[in-house]
Amino acid sequence: MLGIDHVGKRFGDGQITALDDAKFEISDNEFFTLLGPSGCGKTTLLRIIAGFEHPTEGRVLLDGRDIGHEPPFKRPVNTMFQSYALFPHLNVRQNIAYGLEMLRWKPADIRRRVDEVLDLVQMPAFADRRTTQMSGGQQQRIALARALAPRPRVLLLDEPLSALDLKLRKAMQSELKRLQRETSLTFVMVTHDQEEALALSDRIAVMNKGKVLQVGTPEEIYARPKTCFVADFIGEANLIPAGLVGLAGGKTISIRTEQISVRTRPADERRSVEAIVTALTFLGADTLIEARCAGDVPIKARVRGAVSGLSVGDRADFAWDHSSEWLLSE
Ligand code: ATP
Repeated sequence: MLGIDHVGKRFGDGQITALDDAKFEISDNEFFTLLGPSGCGKTTLLRIIAGFEHPTEGRVLLDGRDIGHEPPFKRPVNTMFQSYALFPHLNVRQNIAYGLEMLRWKPADIRRRVDEVLDLVQMPAFADRRTTQMSGGQQQRIALARALAPRPRVLLLDEPLSALDLKLRKAMQSELKRLQRETSLTFVMVTHDQEEALALSDRIAVMNKGKVLQVGTPEEIYARPKTCFVADFIGEANLIPAGLVGLAGGKTISIRTEQISVRTRPADERRSVEAIVTALTFLGADTLIEARCAGDVPIKARVRGAVSGLSVGDRADFAWDHSSEWLLSE
């Protein structure tokens, strides 16, 4: 439905490459996430889909038609900004109605649609409130209602949950997922939070330094990362030089922290490395054990519950099953 076709974006007389040959497709009704560290180009790509920026190279296709140089208001695409961008001098109803008035909807249709979207975000009692008298979570729901009001086909969300505290963020994650399911719209979200991306997305594009490194479902990206960067960025992966466990070639193996067990007696026939414990951090449901093995290579294990009989400075075997290894070549 939405095609990103070899899209590139350069700024400053072509010296800064914000986006380099991005290529993937987003389906109808998909929750798609652009994930990557600060400066990787994800906001630039979102702004290109919205029409606030135009690509230097490539095309943005909607149902096969190139919309890459159309202005934002001509696209069936709407954006919810990180700052919410609500008007402080207007009440909730007026905030939501504003965009529909710009699109010259009839007053009766606007009234009906505002009531509908307020129901959708479960805020019907707030229609007459000023947005300045509302909490961050409430403002967020109103910003969502406003973005959904003109019935876009694609809703773009720029770090939608970053301004909320942890508890509210978790609640709003479920809310976003519910809204996407109920409206059957395509959501494209930008985030640097890998946990949020894994929890919400049907598919994720992992980006770094202007490049799209891998596109896949959360399960694919987690279990079968294509590069060391992806393995490291998604979840907590250990990257161990293959030579350390007697494997030939200059490759790296990636093992998830929760796949590693730690024991003070030598491990059995499973793969293992010896390491010196450098930190033990109790996290509630589990404990993070950090250590250094030969060549000062760091290794981390996340084990269930509290740990007894192990202290910083102890020598221990970090062991895992061959089946939980993943071999990486870049
Ligand atoms: P963040 O998470 O910090 O918002 P991001 O992944 O969204 O980062 P972008 O904002 O897309 O990254 O920026 C990608 C690169 O392009 C950065 O190096 C940035 O400095 C540069 N850049 C973005 N917009 C412009 C601009 N208008 N002029 C010049 N350089 C820009």
